[in-house]
Amino acid sequence: MSLRIERIPTLSDNYTYLLTCEETQEAAVVDAPEAAPVIACAEAAGVRVTHILSTHHHADHSMANPELARHFGAPVYGHASDADRLPGFTNGLEEGDTVQVGRQQARVLFIPAHTRGHIAYVFDEAKALFCGDTLFAGGCGRLFEGTPDMMYEALCVKLADLPDDMRVFCGHEYTESNLAFAAHTEPDNEAVREKLERVRGVRAKAAADWHDATAAEMTIPSTLGEERATNPFVRARSADDLGRIRAAKDSF
Ligand code: ZN
Ligand code: FE
Repeated sequence: MSLRIERIPTLSDNYTYLLTCEETQEAAVVDAPEAAPVIACAEAAGVRVTHILSTHHHADHSMANPELARHFGAPVYGHASDADRLPGFTNGLEEGDTVQVGRQQARVLFIPAHTRGHIAYVFDEAKALFCGDTLFAGGCGRLFEGTPDMMYEALCVKLADLPDDMRVFCGHEYTESNLAFAAHTEPDNEAVREKLERVRGVRAKAAADWHDATAAEMTIPSTLGEERATNPFVRARSADDLGRIRAAKDSF
C-alpha cells in the first residue's frame, strides 16, 4: 500500500502537500500558509488529518498551522529549536526522529542553512522527500540563517545518502528560473538544457492564478537523480564552490 500525495498550489508559487496513507486514510499536511485550499482538498479526498508538519518557520510555509490545528484537532510538528517561532508549534522533532502517518513512516533530517531550524521529512518506502526551501528543483534556498558550509552539508552530504529515484517535493515552483540560471552556470550541461526545455513547455500552460494550477503545469516532483544531473548546488564540488554559485545566483 502506498502514500498518496496531493500537490496543493498556495500563495503565488508555494506548494503545500497532503499525504495520505492509503491503508488507513490518515493524512499529514506539509507546509501550509493557507487553510482553505487544504481543508477543501482534505474534504474532497475524505481523509482524516492527523499531523501538521512544517519544514521551517517562514510564514509562507506555516501561517495556516494554528487554523488547521484547530480545524483538524491535530498537533503541529517542527524542529524543536523553532518552538518559539513556528506558528502553532506543539511537537518538537530532532534529527533521526520518525513521524508515523497511518502505516507510512517519515524520518526527520536536520538540514539547517536556509533557516537554522530547517528539517526535511523522508518517506523511504514511498520514496518521497519533503525538503521545504533547502533543495529546490534546479536550485536551493537562500542562506538567511546559515552558511555555504551548512548548505553543502545538507545537499551534498546528508541528501547524498538518498537514492536517485527518491522524489523531491520542494516548497516552491521555482524550477524554470532556477534552470535558466543553471544553463547560464553550466552552458555545456545537456541534461540542464533538456530539462529547461521540458519545464518551459510545462510552465507555458500555466494558469493566471497559481491557485488554479493543475498537475499539467507543475514541475514538481523532481527526483534526486535529476537534481544530481541538473542542479548546480547539488553538483557543487565543495562548500566554497557552492558559496560562489549561491552568490552568483543571488545577483542573477
Ligand atoms: Zn523559507
Ligand atoms: Fe518559502
